Amino acid sequence: MAKFDGVKEAKKLYERLFDADRVIWTGQYVTDLEKVLDDLDIGVIRADFSKEFNNIDRIRNNNVSGFLFKNKGKHTIFMNTNTSESAKRQRFTLAHEIGHFCLGHSEDNDTYFRPRDINSSSGKDEYEVSANAFAAELLVPEKLIKNLYEVGQSTKLLSEIFNVSEDVIKHRIKNLELR
Ligand SMILES: [Zn+2]
Repeated sequence: MAKFDGVKEAKKLYERLFDADRVIWTGQYVTDLEKVLDDLDIGVIRADFSKEFNNIDRIRNNNVSGFLFKNKGKHTIFMNTNTSESAKRQRFTLAHEIGHFCLGHSEDNDTYFRPRDINSSSGKDEYEVSANAFAAELLVPEKLIKNLYEVGQSTKLLSEIFNVSEDVIKHRIKNLELR
């Protein structure tokens, strides 16, 4: 397992569960995260963190939007329902936490918190950087965005097609050097 190669692990997972050619053919570009969670046997619990977890310092102080938690070998992703974040941002958080799981990060720590202010999670922390790379590739696979970008779709339309924020699309275009 490549612990910090988010792109590689995301591609491996995507290829195992989905068929990119079929996706292009049908036009159903939104990655089905429920299918991913089912396959990996990861539970999801949605809760108001301000009520449920206000005894945990890290959550109270950091405005956490979600976290991965390992207990007795079973993984659960907790998602904060007390949030002004868009559904698109929450989807990215979910994919990011799936990334910590797939990259084997839970072997090193039992819990990975994702702060609401993404910029506050250090850009140098390789756990966070690789989980972000994983989420970006899982939600917006390189092969698919290339295909659409080449035919001239706007970032706004691409964000709707993949059900991610426009920021994620802009990062993808930049990182994949599509322009
Ligand atoms: Zn994280």
